[in-house]
Amino acid sequence: MNAVVPETAKTHQAPALVDRFGRRVDYVRISVTDRCDFRCVYCMGEDMQFLPRREILSLEELLAAAEAFVALGVTKIRLTGGEPLVRQDIVWLAGHIAALPGLHELVLTTNGSQLPRLAAPLREAGVKRVNISLDSLDRARFRQLTRTGDLDTVLAGIDAALAVGFERLKLNSVILRGRNDDEVLALVEFARARDIDISFIEEMPLGHIDEHDRAESFCSSAELRAIIETRYPLTPSLDSTGGPSRYWHMADSDTRVGFISPHSHNFCHLCNRVRLTVEGRLLLCLGNEHSTDLRAVMRERPGDAEALREAIVQAMDLKPERHHFALDGEPEIVRFMNTTGG
Ligand code: SAM
Ligand code: SF4
Repeated sequence: MNAVVPETAKTHQAPALVDRFGRRVDYVRISVTDRCDFRCVYCMGEDMQFLPRREILSLEELLAAAEAFVALGVTKIRLTGGEPLVRQDIVWLAGHIAALPGLHELVLTTNGSQLPRLAAPLREAGVKRVNISLDSLDRARFRQLTRTGDLDTVLAGIDAALAVGFERLKLNSVILRGRNDDEVLALVEFARARDIDISFIEEMPLGHIDEHDRAESFCSSAELRAIIETRYPLTPSLDSTGGPSRYWHMADSDTRVGFISPHSHNFCHLCNRVRLTVEGRLLLCLGNEHSTDLRAVMRERPGDAEALREAIVQAMDLKPERHHFALDGEPEIVRFMNTTGG
């Protein structure tokens, strides 16, 4: 049985969320929309059906959920999606979440397309760090991989983010064999030239896609590391994210190179995170379907913060020990990444 365990850390007085395996959950990724202005080939189908408005959490419900998590000792929240910056009034939401007492970090993952317009207001609202997805530096290829995206707009978004002084920027790149695996070094150079971090994400079997065969396009982190080491020897960093990322340093640069290898089970015992989908489903593990419906709690008992916190505490019992991803055959997880909150 889980209970609200008294928090002894000096940093704040909030209680802590602890699961059956003794893991402390202090990080929540909140998907604020399933919609997106891109249709990245590894993330979505070309024709996507998005959720009807009544099924998604309102901004007020998203804020109430964030408030409940922070009251339970969560110190870091990431806004994601879908594309979080296409959600109307995202700056309002960011500002209110950033102001929650006890929250140390509000961060964001974006495709960068709206950053030329929103980087400054988001920084002002209190967003500390931003991850920006960038899979290619070639215009035509960028368009092919995102189906609708415009590289120049995203590059302008990266410039805007650099100009407003977020504490740290990181690029996220998904590398697909035969599509952009020849750009690994160019992407590292791009990050080095701007003193920003870069992470390479292994493709995950989330949702069924017809565009390519995931097993054929899969590039492992080990392969990508070997490519980078032909030019820059990498030394492992001691930084731990509690997630599937491992960071490496280059001798002559502040840029850290990360590898996100969700297929490895090695990180599950350190897992400190849960995800909230925009439908209000609290997902206890990216690679499993265990979940609790927080939307039902919020809509059945509007304004009842205690009931919401209690539902979150109870959900900790559902967090599985580890995930099980397979690359071959049907995806085990039928959700797409955009509904999951990547
Ligand atoms: N739209 C924003 C973006 O693209 O950064 C945030 C949401 S997106 C789902 C978050 C991250 O998940 C992106 O870096 C994207 O490249 C990655 N992603 C999407 N589908 C994936 C998949 N099937 N496997 C691995 N990474 C994926
Ligand atoms: Fe949109 Fe991000 Fe998915 Fe690309 S990876 S389709 S930008 S949600």
